[in-house]
Amino acid sequence: MDYVEVKNWFRQVGTGFIELLYPAAEACPVCRQEPGYGHGIGKKCFQKIGLVAPPICRVCGRPLRLKVGDRGICRQCEENSYYFSEARAVGLYEGALREYLSELKYRYRPELGEALGKLLVDWVRLNPEYRKSDLIIPVPIHRQKLELRGYNQAELLANPLQRYLGIRVKNDIIVRDKLTESQNALSKEGRFANVADAFRVVNSTALPGASVLVVDDILTTGATASEVARMLLRAGALTVRVLTLAVGVIDTTWLEN
Ligand SMILES: [Zn+2]
Ligand SMILES: [Zn+2]
Repeated sequence: MDYVEVKNWFRQVGTGFIELLYPAAEACPVCRQEPGYGHGIGKKCFQKIGLVAPPICRVCGRPLRLKVGDRGICRQCEENSYYFSEARAVGLYEGALREYLSELKYRYRPELGEALGKLLVDWVRLNPEYRKSDLIIPVPIHRQKLELRGYNQAELLANPLQRYLGIRVKNDIIVRDKLTESQNALSKEGRFANVADAFRVVNSTALPGASVLVVDDILTTGATASEVARMLLRAGALTVRVLTLAVGVIDTTWLEN
């Protein structure tokens, strides 16, 4: 998606193009003070999201500062290799989107997952190569976390893709065995070590030769998504791409040295 398309996306929403596609239904699940469209979020709440716009790193999808962007790859990706072929995100993990995701994860708001998942549908519509995926796998959460939270937020985000694009969402292929520490408090190295062997493929029949789209709420270091990709490739997947709702802006300390 180039910059013009991102601008157009904004404009379409602003001029009510979305209203034509999705008749107004219930209230916006974020603010409940404006109409939502097709169970999606309302215009005002959408426009508060900082969308990812080019130039971006061709591997991890993070916005690039122009000078770093000569090779189209960020410094983080120069230092690490990931098992996924590329990762892309809809918005920046800051401001409004950060708030929406924290509501979704910690305040039991399943309807918000559905609404935010519609943004992934819109994104994939603008990026047709992502429609060629054979199956969609949400990053699993540990059973204990699932019981506490009531749902896997990544799965809620992925469900609209199944409905609108007809690509199957599979939550029975890979599980998370290791109850890892929260990634938030860890350094970059810590995050990679923390997720090592956290996942296990339990049903690989659909994987051989498949182009897999892994969906998650946030990509920060990419450690979690990379580990999921490693396991899927090992079980026969042909390629693994990653689509998240949000991408973390790189910690400035990682840019030094
Ligand atoms: Zn709203
Ligand atoms: Zn990168």
